[in-house]
Amino acid sequence: MDINDRLRRPLRDLRISVTDRCNFRCHYCMPADIFGPNYDFLKKNMLLSFEEIYRLAVVFRKTSGIKKIRITGGEPLMRKDLPILIEMLASIDGIEDIAMTTNGSLLPKYAKALKEAGLHRVTISLDTLDNRRFKKINGRDVSVDTVLKGIDAAEEAGLGIKINMVVQKGINDSDIVPMAEFFRKKGHVLRFIEYMDVGNSNGWKLDDVFPKKAIIERINGVMPIEPIDPNYTGEVATRYRYKGTDEEIGIISSVTDAFCSTCNRSRLSAEGKLYTCLFASKGHDLRGPLRNDASDADMAKIITNIWSNRNDRYSEERTEHTKRSSKIEMSHIGG
Ligand code: SAM
Ligand code: SF4
Ligand code: SF4
Repeated sequence: MDINDRLRRPLRDLRISVTDRCNFRCHYCMPADIFGPNYDFLKKNMLLSFEEIYRLAVVFRKTSGIKKIRITGGEPLMRKDLPILIEMLASIDGIEDIAMTTNGSLLPKYAKALKEAGLHRVTISLDTLDNRRFKKINGRDVSVDTVLKGIDAAEEAGLGIKINMVVQKGINDSDIVPMAEFFRKKGHVLRFIEYMDVGNSNGWKLDDVFPKKAIIERINGVMPIEPIDPNYTGEVATRYRYKGTDEEIGIISSVTDAFCSTCNRSRLSAEGKLYTCLFASKGHDLRGPLRNDASDADMAKIITNIWSNRNDRYSEERTEHTKRSSKIEMSHIGG
Protein backbone atom coordinates (compact mmCIF):
# COMPACT_ATOMS: atom_id res chain seq x y z
CA MET A 1 0.00 0.00 0.00
CA ASP A 2 2.99 2.31 -0.43
CA ILE A 3 2.42 5.49 -2.43
CA ASN A 4 5.65 6.64 -4.05
CA ASP A 5 6.35 10.12 -5.36
CA ARG A 6 8.12 10.94 -8.61
CA LEU A 7 11.51 10.50 -6.92
CA ARG A 8 10.36 7.11 -5.53
CA ARG A 9 10.00 8.32 -1.97
CA PRO A 10 7.17 6.64 -0.05
CA LEU A 11 4.69 8.56 2.08
CA ARG A 12 5.42 7.49 5.67
CA ASP A 13 4.85 10.33 8.04
CA LEU A 14 1.91 12.65 8.66
CA ARG A 15 2.43 15.92 10.54
CA ILE A 16 -0.68 17.74 11.56
CA SER A 17 -0.68 21.39 12.54
CA VAL A 18 -3.65 22.10 14.80
CA THR A 19 -3.34 25.88 15.08
CA ASP A 20 -1.42 28.78 13.55
CA ARG A 21 -1.41 30.63 16.90
CA CYS A 22 1.35 30.66 19.48
CA ASN A 23 2.05 32.13 22.91
CA PHE A 24 5.71 32.76 21.88
CA ARG A 25 7.09 35.09 19.22
CA CYS A 26 10.40 33.40 18.37
CA HIS A 27 12.13 35.86 16.07
CA TYR A 28 13.06 33.10 13.56
CA CYS A 29 9.50 31.82 13.27
CA MET A 30 6.86 34.40 14.24
CA PRO A 31 8.65 37.74 14.66
CA ALA A 32 6.53 40.00 16.88
CA ASP A 33 6.63 42.94 14.47
CA ILE A 34 4.90 40.84 11.78
CA PHE A 35 2.77 38.55 13.96
CA GLY A 36 1.36 41.47 15.96
CA PRO A 37 -2.12 42.32 17.32
CA ASN A 38 -3.46 42.94 13.81
CA TYR A 39 -2.16 39.74 12.27
CA ASP A 40 -4.86 37.83 10.46
CA PHE A 41 -4.83 34.44 12.20
CA LEU A 42 -7.15 31.68 11.01
CA LYS A 43 -10.75 32.00 12.22
CA LYS A 44 -12.32 29.08 14.04
CA ASN A 45 -14.45 27.91 11.12
CA MET A 46 -11.36 27.84 8.90
CA LEU A 47 -9.63 25.30 11.12
CA LEU A 48 -10.17 21.62 10.50
CA SER A 49 -12.38 20.28 13.26
CA PHE A 50 -11.20 17.29 15.32
CA GLU A 51 -13.65 15.11 13.36
CA GLU A 52 -12.19 16.31 10.06
CA ILE A 53 -8.62 15.72 11.23
CA TYR A 54 -9.58 12.25 12.45
CA ARG A 55 -11.25 11.39 9.18
CA LEU A 56 -8.24 12.51 7.15
CA ALA A 57 -5.88 10.57 9.42
CA VAL A 58 -7.96 7.42 8.85
CA VAL A 59 -7.82 7.96 5.09
CA PHE A 60 -4.04 8.57 5.23
CA ARG A 61 -3.59 5.41 7.28
CA LYS A 62 -5.66 3.29 4.89
CA THR A 63 -4.22 4.84 1.73
CA SER A 64 -0.52 4.97 2.53
CA GLY A 65 -0.03 2.77 5.57
CA ILE A 66 1.39 5.59 7.73
CA LYS A 67 1.99 4.47 11.31
CA LYS A 68 3.25 7.73 12.77
CA ILE A 69 1.55 11.04 13.42
CA ARG A 70 3.13 14.20 14.79
CA ILE A 71 1.01 17.03 16.16
CA THR A 72 2.44 20.50 15.81
CA GLY A 73 1.48 24.15 15.26
CA GLY A 74 1.91 27.14 15.97
CA GLU A 75 1.84 25.99 19.55
CA PRO A 76 -0.34 22.85 19.53
CA LEU A 77 -1.29 23.23 23.18
CA MET A 78 -3.03 26.51 22.34
CA ARG A 79 -5.72 24.42 20.63
CA LYS A 80 -8.57 23.83 23.04
CA ASP A 81 -9.19 20.27 24.24
CA LEU A 82 -6.20 18.81 22.40
CA PRO A 83 -6.20 15.60 24.51
CA ILE A 84 -9.56 14.76 22.93
CA LEU A 85 -7.98 14.82 19.46
CA ILE A 86 -5.05 12.70 20.68
CA GLU A 87 -7.50 10.13 22.02
CA MET A 88 -9.32 10.04 18.68
CA LEU A 89 -6.08 9.59 16.72
CA ALA A 90 -4.77 6.96 19.15
CA SER A 91 -7.90 4.90 18.50
CA ILE A 92 -7.04 4.49 14.79
CA ASP A 93 -6.07 0.93 14.03
CA GLY A 94 -2.41 0.72 12.99
CA ILE A 95 -1.30 4.13 14.28
CA GLU A 96 1.58 3.08 16.51
CA ASP A 97 3.26 6.33 17.38
CA ILE A 98 1.82 9.74 18.20
CA ALA A 99 4.27 12.53 18.96
CA MET A 100 3.98 16.27 19.48
CA THR A 101 6.35 19.21 19.00
CA THR A 102 5.77 21.93 21.59
CA ASN A 103 7.47 24.90 23.19
CA GLY A 104 6.79 23.16 26.51
CA SER A 105 5.28 26.14 28.33
CA LEU A 106 1.85 24.55 28.77
CA LEU A 107 3.02 21.01 29.52
CA PRO A 108 2.70 21.38 33.31
CA LYS A 109 -1.03 21.80 32.69
CA TYR A 110 -1.53 19.14 30.01
CA ALA A 111 1.22 16.48 30.12
CA LYS A 112 -0.74 14.01 32.23
CA ALA A 113 -3.94 14.31 30.21
CA LEU A 114 -2.00 13.97 26.94
CA LYS A 115 -0.29 10.81 28.13
CA GLU A 116 -3.58 9.34 29.30
CA ALA A 117 -5.12 10.19 25.93
CA GLY A 118 -2.45 8.13 24.14
CA LEU A 119 0.37 10.55 23.29
CA HIS A 120 3.71 8.70 23.28
CA ARG A 121 6.38 11.35 22.92
CA VAL A 122 7.07 15.06 22.98
CA THR A 123 9.79 17.07 21.33
CA ILE A 124 10.31 20.23 23.35
CA SER A 125 11.98 23.25 21.80
CA LEU A 126 14.55 25.13 23.86
CA ASP A 127 17.36 27.18 22.35
CA THR A 128 19.37 28.25 25.39
CA LEU A 129 19.63 27.91 29.17
CA ASP A 130 20.47 31.60 29.50
CA ASN A 131 17.40 33.41 30.70
CA ARG A 132 18.19 36.76 29.17
CA ARG A 133 18.89 35.23 25.77
CA PHE A 134 15.85 32.98 25.93
CA LYS A 135 13.51 35.87 26.65
CA LYS A 136 14.97 37.73 23.69
CA ILE A 137 14.50 34.71 21.43
CA ASN A 138 10.94 33.86 22.49
CA GLY A 139 9.83 37.49 22.35
CA ARG A 140 7.35 36.99 25.21
CA ASP A 141 9.44 37.26 28.36
CA VAL A 142 9.04 33.53 29.06
CA SER A 143 11.75 32.20 31.39
CA VAL A 144 13.89 29.10 30.82
CA ASP A 145 12.45 27.75 34.06
CA THR A 146 8.95 27.65 32.55
CA VAL A 147 10.15 25.29 29.81
CA LEU A 148 12.23 23.21 32.24
CA LYS A 149 9.08 22.76 34.33
CA GLY A 150 7.33 21.57 31.17
CA ILE A 151 10.10 19.04 30.54
CA ASP A 152 9.80 17.79 34.13
CA ALA A 153 6.02 17.48 33.76
CA ALA A 154 6.44 15.43 30.57
CA GLU A 155 8.91 13.18 32.37
CA GLU A 156 6.60 12.71 35.33
CA ALA A 157 3.74 11.85 33.00
CA GLY A 158 5.89 9.14 31.39
CA LEU A 159 6.14 10.72 27.94
CA GLY A 160 9.21 10.11 25.75
CA ILE A 161 11.27 13.32 25.50
CA LYS A 162 13.59 14.91 22.97
CA ILE A 163 14.82 18.50 22.99
CA ASN A 164 15.16 20.67 19.84
CA MET A 165 17.62 23.56 19.77
CA VAL A 166 17.72 25.86 16.73
CA VAL A 167 21.29 27.16 16.46
CA GLN A 168 21.89 30.64 15.09
CA LYS A 169 25.38 31.95 14.58
CA GLY A 170 26.23 34.76 16.98
CA ILE A 171 22.88 34.41 18.78
CA ASN A 172 23.10 31.12 20.69
CA ASP A 173 26.01 29.09 19.31
CA SER A 174 27.78 29.67 22.65
CA ASP A 175 24.96 27.63 24.21
CA ILE A 176 25.77 24.45 22.26
CA VAL A 177 28.09 22.98 24.88
CA PRO A 178 26.13 24.05 28.00
CA MET A 179 22.94 22.61 26.45
CA ALA A 180 24.73 19.37 25.52
CA GLU A 181 26.13 19.00 29.04
CA PHE A 182 22.83 19.81 30.71
CA PHE A 183 20.69 17.40 28.70
CA ARG A 184 23.32 14.66 28.77
CA LYS A 185 23.09 14.80 32.56
CA LYS A 186 19.30 14.83 32.41
CA GLY A 187 19.30 11.81 30.10
CA HIS A 188 17.36 13.44 27.23
CA VAL A 189 18.38 13.37 23.57
CA LEU A 190 19.20 16.90 22.39
CA ARG A 191 18.92 17.69 18.68
CA PHE A 192 20.63 20.67 17.14
CA ILE A 193 18.76 22.20 14.19
CA GLU A 194 20.44 24.38 11.60
CA TYR A 195 18.61 27.66 11.28
CA MET A 196 16.50 27.41 8.11
CA ASP A 197 15.08 29.80 5.52
CA VAL A 198 11.49 28.78 6.19
CA GLY A 199 8.71 31.30 5.61
CA ASN A 200 9.24 34.87 4.43
CA SER A 201 9.43 36.80 7.66
CA ASN A 202 12.63 35.88 9.52
CA GLY A 203 15.12 37.65 7.22
CA TRP A 204 17.25 34.49 6.94
CA LYS A 205 20.80 34.74 5.58
CA LEU A 206 23.13 31.84 4.88
CA ASP A 207 25.64 33.65 7.07
CA ASP A 208 23.38 33.20 10.11
CA VAL A 209 23.57 29.42 9.87
CA PHE A 210 25.87 27.65 12.32
CA PRO A 211 26.70 24.54 10.28
CA LYS A 212 26.57 20.93 11.36
CA LYS A 213 30.34 20.58 10.96
CA ALA A 214 30.96 23.41 13.42
CA ILE A 215 28.43 22.01 15.90
CA ILE A 216 30.29 18.68 15.87
CA GLU A 217 33.63 20.43 16.36
CA ARG A 218 32.30 22.41 19.34
CA ILE A 219 31.00 19.30 21.10
CA ASN A 220 34.01 17.18 20.18
CA GLY A 221 36.24 19.76 21.80
CA VAL A 222 34.67 19.01 25.18
CA MET A 223 32.94 15.63 24.98
CA PRO A 224 34.09 13.46 22.04
CA ILE A 225 31.27 12.00 19.94
CA GLU A 226 31.03 9.36 17.21
CA PRO A 227 28.35 8.77 14.55
CA ILE A 228 25.78 5.99 14.92
CA ASP A 229 23.41 4.39 12.42
CA PRO A 230 19.97 5.89 11.75
CA ASN A 231 17.02 4.22 13.47
CA TYR A 232 15.14 4.04 10.15
CA THR A 233 15.31 5.33 6.57
CA GLY A 234 14.23 8.93 6.35
CA GLU A 235 15.26 9.89 9.88
CA VAL A 236 16.05 13.60 9.63
CA ALA A 237 18.55 13.83 12.46
CA THR A 238 22.02 12.36 12.01
CA ARG A 239 22.74 10.52 15.23
CA TYR A 240 25.87 10.64 17.38
CA ARG A 241 26.79 9.26 20.77
CA TYR A 242 29.28 10.37 23.35
CA LYS A 243 32.19 7.98 22.83
CA GLY A 244 32.02 4.85 24.92
CA THR A 245 28.41 5.49 26.03
CA ASP A 246 24.91 5.05 24.65
CA GLU A 247 24.06 8.70 25.39
CA GLU A 248 22.88 10.23 22.17
CA ILE A 249 22.56 13.59 20.37
CA GLY A 250 21.26 14.44 16.90
CA ILE A 251 21.90 17.11 14.28
CA ILE A 252 19.32 18.23 11.73
CA SER A 253 21.30 19.79 8.92
CA SER A 254 18.70 20.83 6.42
CA VAL A 255 20.93 23.60 5.06
CA THR A 256 24.49 22.25 4.86
CA ASP A 257 23.75 18.55 4.39
CA ALA A 258 20.29 18.16 2.88
CA PHE A 259 18.34 14.93 3.14
CA CYS A 260 15.63 15.37 0.49
CA SER A 261 16.40 12.02 -1.13
CA THR A 262 14.79 10.19 1.81
CA CYS A 263 12.14 12.77 2.72
CA ASN A 264 8.86 10.96 3.32
CA ARG A 265 6.82 13.53 5.27
CA SER A 266 3.53 15.10 4.48
CA ARG A 267 2.30 18.16 6.30
CA LEU A 268 -1.32 19.06 6.92
CA SER A 269 -1.90 22.69 7.90
CA ALA A 270 -4.47 23.76 10.47
CA GLU A 271 -6.77 24.93 7.66
CA GLY A 272 -6.55 21.60 5.87
CA LYS A 273 -3.96 22.22 3.18
CA LEU A 274 -1.54 19.44 2.39
CA TYR A 275 2.08 20.49 1.87
CA THR A 276 4.61 18.11 0.39
CA CYS A 277 7.64 20.20 1.39
CA LEU A 278 8.54 22.47 4.29
CA PHE A 279 9.49 25.13 1.78
CA ALA A 280 6.47 24.83 -0.48
CA SER A 281 4.79 27.98 -1.67
CA LYS A 282 1.46 26.28 -2.22
CA GLY A 283 -0.61 23.71 -0.38
CA HIS A 284 -3.30 21.41 -1.74
CA ASP A 285 -6.72 22.06 -0.29
CA LEU A 286 -8.27 19.02 1.42
CA ARG A 287 -10.81 20.94 3.49
CA GLY A 288 -12.83 21.98 0.43
CA PRO A 289 -13.56 18.46 -0.80
CA LEU A 290 -14.04 17.23 2.80
CA ARG A 291 -16.74 19.84 3.37
CA ASN A 292 -18.27 19.14 -0.03
CA ASP A 293 -19.22 15.57 0.77
CA ALA A 294 -16.24 13.82 -0.82
CA SER A 295 -16.24 10.14 0.11
CA ASP A 296 -13.26 8.45 1.78
CA ALA A 297 -12.45 6.90 -1.60
CA ASP A 298 -12.47 10.37 -3.21
CA MET A 299 -10.16 11.71 -0.49
CA ALA A 300 -7.83 8.73 -0.91
CA LYS A 301 -7.64 9.43 -4.63
CA ILE A 302 -6.85 13.12 -4.05
CA ILE A 303 -4.09 12.31 -1.54
CA THR A 304 -2.57 9.62 -3.77
CA ASN A 305 -2.58 12.01 -6.68
CA ILE A 306 -0.85 14.78 -4.73
CA TRP A 307 1.86 12.49 -3.36
CA SER A 308 2.52 10.65 -6.62
CA ASN A 309 3.11 13.95 -8.38
CA ARG A 310 5.52 15.26 -5.76
CA ASN A 311 9.08 16.05 -6.81
CA ASP A 312 10.16 18.54 -4.10
CA ARG A 313 13.83 18.72 -3.18
CA TYR A 314 14.17 22.33 -2.11
CA SER A 315 17.11 21.90 0.28
CA GLU A 316 19.15 20.02 -2.28
CA GLU A 317 18.54 22.76 -4.81
CA ARG A 318 18.89 25.69 -2.43
CA THR A 319 20.98 28.52 -3.82
CA GLU A 320 20.57 32.26 -3.87
CA HIS A 321 18.90 31.84 -7.29
CA THR A 322 16.34 29.27 -6.25
CA LYS A 323 15.39 30.99 -2.99
CA ARG A 324 11.62 31.21 -3.25
CA SER A 325 10.02 34.50 -2.51
CA SER A 326 6.73 33.20 -1.21
CA LYS A 327 6.93 30.23 1.11
CA ILE A 328 4.51 28.91 3.66
CA GLU A 329 5.24 30.19 7.18
CA MET A 330 6.65 27.67 9.67
CA SER A 331 3.87 28.52 12.12
CA HIS A 332 1.35 27.20 9.56
CA ILE A 333 2.89 23.77 9.10
CA GLY A 334 4.95 23.33 12.22
CA GLY A 335 8.32 22.10 11.00
N1 SAM B 1 5.55 25.71 18.77
C1 SAM B 1 6.11 24.42 18.75
C2 SAM B 1 7.59 24.47 19.04
O1 SAM B 1 8.18 25.55 19.01
O2 SAM B 1 8.15 23.41 19.29
C3 SAM B 1 5.85 23.65 17.47
C4 SAM B 1 5.94 24.38 16.17
S1 SAM B 1 7.57 24.98 15.75
C5 SAM B 1 7.25 25.79 14.23
C6 SAM B 1 8.40 23.47 15.33
C7 SAM B 1 9.91 23.50 15.37
O3 SAM B 1 10.37 24.31 14.32
C8 SAM B 1 10.52 24.05 16.65
O4 SAM B 1 11.44 23.14 17.18
C9 SAM B 1 11.21 25.31 16.18
O5 SAM B 1 12.34 25.59 16.95
C10 SAM B 1 11.53 24.98 14.76
N2 SAM B 1 11.76 26.16 13.91
C11 SAM B 1 10.95 27.23 13.75
N3 SAM B 1 11.49 28.12 12.88
C12 SAM B 1 12.66 27.58 12.47
C13 SAM B 1 13.70 28.01 11.58
N4 SAM B 1 13.63 29.15 10.92
N5 SAM B 1 14.77 27.19 11.39
C14 SAM B 1 14.86 26.01 12.05
N6 SAM B 1 13.92 25.56 12.90
C15 SAM B 1 12.84 26.33 13.11
FE1 SF4 C 1 5.81 29.50 18.47
FE2 SF4 C 1 7.17 27.29 18.04
FE3 SF4 C 1 7.26 29.27 16.26
FE4 SF4 C 1 8.44 29.63 18.60
S1 SF4 C 1 9.00 28.10 17.04
S2 SF4 C 1 7.04 31.08 17.59
S3 SF4 C 1 7.14 28.47 19.96
S4 SF4 C 1 5.50 28.07 16.79
FE1 SF4 D 1 11.73 17.28 2.42
FE2 SF4 D 1 11.41 19.64 1.25
FE3 SF4 D 1 12.96 19.41 3.43
FE4 SF4 D 1 13.77 18.39 1.07
S1 SF4 D 1 13.44 20.54 1.54
S2 SF4 D 1 13.85 17.37 3.10
S3 SF4 D 1 11.79 17.72 0.22
S4 SF4 D 1 10.74 19.06 3.33
